Amino acid sequence: MFAKADLVLLHAPSVYDFRKLPILFGPISDLVPSTPIFEMYPIGFSSIAEHLERNGVRVRIVNLALRMLKDKNFDAEKMIAKLKPRAFGIDLHWLPHAHGSLEVAALCKKYHPEIPVIFGGYSSSYFHEELIRYPQVDFVLRGDSTEEPLRQLLLSLRERRPLADVPNLTWKSEDGSIRANPLTHVLTDLNEYLNNYPNLFRSALRYLDVRSLIPIHDWWEYPITAVMTCRGCTHNCSICGGSRYALSNSYSRAACAYRSPEKVAADILSIAGYTNAPIFVVGDLRQAGDAYARAVLSGLQAVRPRNPVVLELFTPAPESYFKEVAAALPNFNFEISPESHDEDVRRASGKFYGNEDLENSIRFALDQGCSKFDVFFMIGIPRQTVRSVMETIDYCGHLLKTFGRRLNPFISPLAPFLDPGSIAFENAEEVGYRVFCKTLEDYRQALLAPSWKYTLSYETRWMTREEIVDSTYEAGLRLNRLKKEEGLISRETAEKTEKRILLAGEMIRKIDGILPDPEPERTAKLKALKETFDKASMATVCDKDEIKWPVLRWRLNFPKIIRALFESRPT
Ligand code: SF4
Repeated sequence: MFAKADLVLLHAPSVYDFRKLPILFGPISDLVPSTPIFEMYPIGFSSIAEHLERNGVRVRIVNLALRMLKDKNFDAEKMIAKLKPRAFGIDLHWLPHAHGSLEVAALCKKYHPEIPVIFGGYSSSYFHEELIRYPQVDFVLRGDSTEEPLRQLLLSLRERRPLADVPNLTWKSEDGSIRANPLTHVLTDLNEYLNNYPNLFRSALRYLDVRSLIPIHDWWEYPITAVMTCRGCTHNCSICGGSRYALSNSYSRAACAYRSPEKVAADILSIAGYTNAPIFVVGDLRQAGDAYARAVLSGLQAVRPRNPVVLELFTPAPESYFKEVAAALPNFNFEISPESHDEDVRRASGKFYGNEDLENSIRFALDQGCSKFDVFFMIGIPRQTVRSVMETIDYCGHLLKTFGRRLNPFISPLAPFLDPGSIAFENAEEVGYRVFCKTLEDYRQALLAPSWKYTLSYETRWMTREEIVDSTYEAGLRLNRLKKEEGLISRETAEKTEKRILLAGEMIRKIDGILPDPEPERTAKLKALKETFDKASMATVCDKDEIKWPVLRWRLNFPKIIRALFESRPT
């Protein structure tokens, strides 16, 4: 008999019916490990699970999105019908999940009307008053620190205690009115949470269900892991829903919560003990100051873990920082997002550094032995024109010629939606955006549009929706050719990517041609193209391997994992 969970955390695909609906999702996920259905569940699932388990609540994570993606015969509805926890938790963190999460919630209610359905995540919090009005949603936990409020909610439900005392909770009272308790529970540091991986291994064993725990489609081939350094950010990029402005304005976070440098170093070493896979360190180590970064790095120096370790740079850094990184990590990698080559455009996106500082940082890092330095540019930011996008590609050529093959530039659209709570979202007109969606329901509906051109929730004063889409493909083609010329990618990879981009552009035009047709011809024609849409939406503007950090013969250290399971067993 399998163990029964108290709480099942469900992760939905972005669009529930993605296996049936003919949608050209476009290059919306090219630069993240997920596919366009965003099958990767939020990292918050693991800290929620760990906190609750430590407090006697049995938690099971079920990545429905991944199961549906991996197996065309997997019946998500049947699985939901069989699950009988005390509560369901569903993430609606970023808006692209607006459709799938609500559909999954509706299925939970269909089969288990008596089991509470709880939502959480940034978008849930932002739209909590609208979200709670959907009949399939019972509770919304707001903010970025829902571990403890969720424990209190589950306890209150079990013991029939009043819900007015549960912090951060939006709920429906018995008379049908909507109640929003104050958002008062906001973590001030991240030290309470243990390294989560043993907990996930334990869960896989308990429910004999490894497949539902896997975070991304190719995890077994490429098992990337993550270490969190903070919640919040000290910066204010105009398009970012995780910025200082967004978090203080919409989620009551007055300042960043950091994990102590000793614990960050210990987390990295702990993962390095289980596997030689890449470790992504989330958040620029220098955010909390140079002393913090130095403390993390000195905590690694004695062991010098051999995993590829990926560090973020939110701003350029001095040479001394890269020397310290090199002394601690034999295989280090960096990434930075200047958004545009044009310093005025970059400034409009909330980043205030010049190209000279940017290039100095790249040089310092490579001189110190950085294995791979990724530089991300974006299409759809304030003050950017089509011409400026093409000049960004010229600048990529300059970077490639100057720094060689360890430098890898990328470009992708800001798509499909502006982040809720971001400066651009809140002050759209002032910043230069024209936004087509207003309510959560608008976003849910937009996800069902036949192409990402019509899902795109905005255009700018400088670029129409059509120009954003067309310049994305044009920029993708040019960058792909540049990378081939500079020997960064093979001829074969470049040819495959070029074919996908050309195919995607052709599909955009085909869809435009079909849309004026009357029903049912319109739907029939779109359905006939479904397979081609799917092909053209997978890693359109670059190959997925380009965003990976190479690892030779990855392995899991099973004796160490088993020891960790016993050592970190919840009390
Ligand atoms: S884009 Fe990065 S640096 Fe900018 S506000 Fe968001 S998290 Fe911070």
